[in-house]
Amino acid sequence: MADKLKQLKAALGEVYDLGKAAAVLEWDQQAYMPPGGAAGRAEQTATLRSLEHGKFTAAKIGRWLTELKKEYRRAAPESDEAALVRVTARAYDRATKVPAALVAEISRATTLAHEHWVEARRQKNFKLFEPYLENIFALQLKVAKCFGKQESPYDALLDGYEPGMKASQVRAVFAELRREIVPLVKAISARPESDDALLHRDYAEQKQWDFGLEVIQKLGYDLQRGRQDKVVHPFCTSFNTGDVRITTRVDKNFLPTCLMGTIHETGHALYEQGLDPRFERTPLCDSASLGIHESQSRMWENLVGRSRAFWKIWYPRLQAVFPENLGGVDLDTFYRAINKVKPSYIRVEADEVTYNLHTMLRFEIEVDVLEGRLAVKDIPATWNAKYNEYFGHEVTDDAAGCLQDVHWSMGLVGYFPTYTLGNIISVQFYDQAVKDNPSISGDLERGEYGSLLKWLRENVHRHGRKYLPTELIKRVTGSGLDSKPYIAYLKRKYSEVYGL
Ligand code: ZN
Repeated sequence: MADKLKQLKAALGEVYDLGKAAAVLEWDQQAYMPPGGAAGRAEQTATLRSLEHGKFTAAKIGRWLTELKKEYRRAAPESDEAALVRVTARAYDRATKVPAALVAEISRATTLAHEHWVEARRQKNFKLFEPYLENIFALQLKVAKCFGKQESPYDALLDGYEPGMKASQVRAVFAELRREIVPLVKAISARPESDDALLHRDYAEQKQWDFGLEVIQKLGYDLQRGRQDKVVHPFCTSFNTGDVRITTRVDKNFLPTCLMGTIHETGHALYEQGLDPRFERTPLCDSASLGIHESQSRMWENLVGRSRAFWKIWYPRLQAVFPENLGGVDLDTFYRAINKVKPSYIRVEADEVTYNLHTMLRFEIEVDVLEGRLAVKDIPATWNAKYNEYFGHEVTDDAAGCLQDVHWSMGLVGYFPTYTLGNIISVQFYDQAVKDNPSISGDLERGEYGSLLKWLRENVHRHGRKYLPTELIKRVTGSGLDSKPYIAYLKRKYSEVYGL
């Protein structure tokens, strides 16, 4: 038995190395590669990814897993070995159930769909994208069928991002959230708009960059085990727990882009830097799910980085860096500006409150299409009606409406809920952290972030992928996925900001 586990671990180590080597190339492509490298790099990455996939889906791995599952059937679920077998078997199942021909078909379909999405969006005309989107949904339905009978075909797709989570669970949690957020947005919209012109002044790029680096090191990001580079679409990537990199972008005329984006990616990076090094070169050396990953980035970005406590400490320093822009702006005005709520068409630019309405809207449409209640041709009308209901104003055209986001053209269906799950879970974890260690609030007021990070390391980070997201939430908080703490947080914070 030990032999088989040893063999499995050796094989998984090679799979991990190939995947991480591909990740280095992908990082370089975004951060440094000159445009001329694109074609050659695409080949190199594809070769590594296909070797990785081939090695992982090899028949012998399936045989070892079948035998090991039997061996470890009665082992304690917390044991590293049992977890490794369980998590690897799950991943193996997902990797082998969808036939290679279908994967290739999806890859061709999304390349085509993406081109037509770009054109349709330019012309603000959904009709140009419709047949391609129709095809994407049909192919995703085929993928779902590969996993056998499910409560909803959506479950099979969601499982790829949020293992074990069901559409019905998400639907229930989102319904509760929507009931509370829609009136909150209406109440805020009825109040005088916050003035955020001060954030749009001229902010020297290098100074923004340096201030961001100063902040995130104080938050606990270890530059001996990470680095930051500039890209167009920021992300965090990890090659091992000793090398976790973040990327950011700088907008000279909008201060939050660099600073809040940098803190967001740092939240992701702190998670990756906190994974247990013992899990390295195995599938356990990963996040529990995208939603859990996002809970970490949102916690640092919003609960910490957009809090009054945070700015009490950092605002004088920011004023010293940009005296000409902020010298005459008081803390309260700045705090209101960075917490401005305003319904917009664009999810990625949305504030903390309206953000969730964007993801819910798309989730509801995806589920309805996959469950056969909504035809793809009717998406724009449904989108516009829902948008009007949730945000309180009209969609002007398809580009501002259902063509607004890139995900569908890339074949990503079932992905959107993870953003809002991240928001919900961030508050569940944060509340628990403060309950377990009440001194955390005072520490944050003093600009000390170590106690919060320590709690996250112990309760969330070090477990890696050992537990399913819902199991992890249960272990950490004693309850299931619950939007109530998040709703309470939003109401508390924004009632104060907007004097509701
Ligand atoms: Zn994120």
